[in-house]
Amino acid sequence: RGDVLLQVRVAQVDARHVLVLAEDRTEARRLEAVRRDFVVNISHELKTPVGALSLLAETVQDAADDPEAVRRFAGSMQSEAMRLGALVHEIIELSRLQVAGALDGLRAVPVEQIVTESVDRARTPAESRKIRLSVAGDLSGYVYGDHNLLVTALRNLLDNAVSYSADGSAVSVGVRRVDDFVELSVVDQGIGISSDQQERIFERFYRVDPARSRETGGTGLGLSIVKHVVADHGGEISIWSEPGQGSTFTIKIPAARAPEELDAAPVAPS
Ligand code: ADP
Repeated sequence: RGDVLLQVRVAQVDARHVLVLAEDRTEARRLEAVRRDFVVNISHELKTPVGALSLLAETVQDAADDPEAVRRFAGSMQSEAMRLGALVHEIIELSRLQVAGALDGLRAVPVEQIVTESVDRARTPAESRKIRLSVAGDLSGYVYGDHNLLVTALRNLLDNAVSYSADGSAVSVGVRRVDDFVELSVVDQGIGISSDQQERIFERFYRVDPARSRETGGTGLGLSIVKHVVADHGGEISIWSEPGQGSTFTIKIPAARAPEELDAAPVAPS
């Protein structure tokens, strides 16, 4: 029937009985296809920086008697190597997240820690482009999560906000408690994303403008990582964006009670 794949095994038990085992392999087949696509994409993406590096190495050899050219090509090799390093790091991160149960135990994490650490790490790229970073809202709460992965997710959103904004603009992080969730929003005044592209940007290796993304050092994996981190936390991600007006990415992560409150649970009377 349609897209359903059933694997059927038949065994003769005795003269009058036959055992029929039917297994639904639809999900397994879908996962195999996802894995196959991922491998094809990875090979393609890795070939670009590797090709660039070997071309640059050849050029350096040819330019051996021109120290200025050697210095310039060595600089380009260093940035290609860094891009390659970032790509490998993100591929590993995403593969780890794609394995169910990859999170090492969730705990109550202070929202302030996640926001401060992510914003601090985004400060250098922002300052180099005179982009103002600010934080607003209630930072006092806790979320139920994995500290490092949540920093990775917020950091990816901040890096994008900075990368796809003009020099001198502003990027802000907003924090608020909504019911049983903490909402973290990253707001930029950058180039924005059209509604038909908004559906695709969470796909692995998808970029609206590959040339621009390459310039900013993007891998096309950032938002897939964010999507996986949020899903693994039982959260949600949403986007508002208008070309030329900017973008707002909002992630909702389940709120947690402060660890002290849990420790101070009432003791049964003796
Ligand atoms: P990349 O490494 O290319 O930034 P991402 O997965 O993080 O990859 O993002 C996918 C694409 O979505 C980007 O290439 C860019 O075109 C678009 N995008 C992401 N964030 C923003 C943003 N804040 N403003 C405009 N475009 C964005």
